[in-house]
Amino acid sequence: MKEMNWENNSNNPVQTLTNGDSEKISTSRFSSLLASKDRDYLLSSSEAEAEADQQVKISDLEGRVIGLYFSANWYPPCRNFNQVLVDVYDQLKSNGSNFEIVFVSSDEDLDAFNNYRKSMPWLSIPFSDLETKKALNRKFEVEGIPCLIILQPEDNKDGATFYDGVELIYRYGVEAFPFTKEKLEELQREERMRHETQTLKNLLTNPDRDYILGQPITRKVQVDSLIDKTIGLYFSAQWCLPGVTFTPRLISIYQKIKQTLEEKGGEDFDIVFVSNDRDQSSFDTYFGSMPWLALPFGDPSIKSLAKYFDVQGIPCLIIIGPDGKTVTKQGRNLINLYQENAYPFTDAKVELLEKEMEEAAKSFPKSEYHAGHRHELTLVSEGTGGGPFICCDCDEQGSGWAYQCLECGYEVHPKCVRAVAPGSTEGS
Ligand SMILES: [Zn+2]
Ligand SMILES: [Zn+2]
Repeated sequence: MKEMNWENNSNNPVQTLTNGDSEKISTSRFSSLLASKDRDYLLSSSEAEAEADQQVKISDLEGRVIGLYFSANWYPPCRNFNQVLVDVYDQLKSNGSNFEIVFVSSDEDLDAFNNYRKSMPWLSIPFSDLETKKALNRKFEVEGIPCLIILQPEDNKDGATFYDGVELIYRYGVEAFPFTKEKLEELQREERMRHETQTLKNLLTNPDRDYILGQPITRKVQVDSLIDKTIGLYFSAQWCLPGVTFTPRLISIYQKIKQTLEEKGGEDFDIVFVSNDRDQSSFDTYFGSMPWLALPFGDPSIKSLAKYFDVQGIPCLIIIGPDGKTVTKQGRNLINLYQENAYPFTDAKVELLEKEMEEAAKSFPKSEYHAGHRHELTLVSEGTGGGPFICCDCDEQGSGWAYQCLECGYEVHPKCVRAVAPGSTEGS
């Protein structure tokens, strides 16, 4: 109420103030954010033909949960999120939820704005109102786009506003509504419960399908036959560049692990490809190059698994233990660090491998010349200037011990060093 709003600029501010029932307060809150001196409306979706129909009074937003959507047409992550948001918005609208979105554009010009708005079924601040857009960016400290700020209709307290609407929408979809603290705590509780009661069967099957694909692709493998095995869920796709190097490496390590287990007898390991390929034929060729199992292309479980495990980038290898519970989401890292020795990927095994690494590192040369780099490389660890890095030799992630060029930051896994005599790398 102490904030400036457009009503206070009218000729009779006293009347506004004395009308201060709770509805009025929420109206003036949205107005103070979204209106300007000479505008008390927002643009509706561009469907409407007549100019008059394209205006929606800000006072109509009363009592609704509002998402302030900062976005721009020229930025691919915005366009990706936009599709997801349209889907959620349509669902919420069709079930009568009290939700509205207001687009705050960072587009380059009016044409780009109008074009982008064609894909949006919600309201917008007029492109020309730079001042309001700037004020909103400042007020909500928007640092990157897409950004979705969720405002509650009544509660003006800071804790009621959510700044991570993009993540909430990606994670929970329409379930996140009405975006209250209570609702989000409930979702987190449910999520914890689902992970605690997780089984391989409920991860990999659905009411219409109790099998996955084997090799050749026409062979059906019952999910029941995988119970009690360690299973890697391999999220990947043929178009994914880092997968081009990682997939062949994973295949060779998979074969080594299988062979060792076969010799020992007893335990078993398998991998299930969870494909994010764009069409059936790329899936067919990519899966055809793999020696393991797969969920069928386009299966609904694929999306729900990616959401459930919060897979942010591919390739990603998630390990499920023989009891059906998640062992680690760091399978790819562990494969890169320890190759076939990473099996069975448990905390106890990783601790052991780390200890062995510490021990082995004692005998590592303090410095090396590496065939791929002209400067001397120095052995570093987490405590001595090392840390998570991308290996310049194999392009995969590393952490802990590394050989690092102190001059230019070039860094490789100890296992990737191809030692050469000093001076023999000149010019490389
Ligand atoms: Zn490497
Ligand atoms: Zn260097």
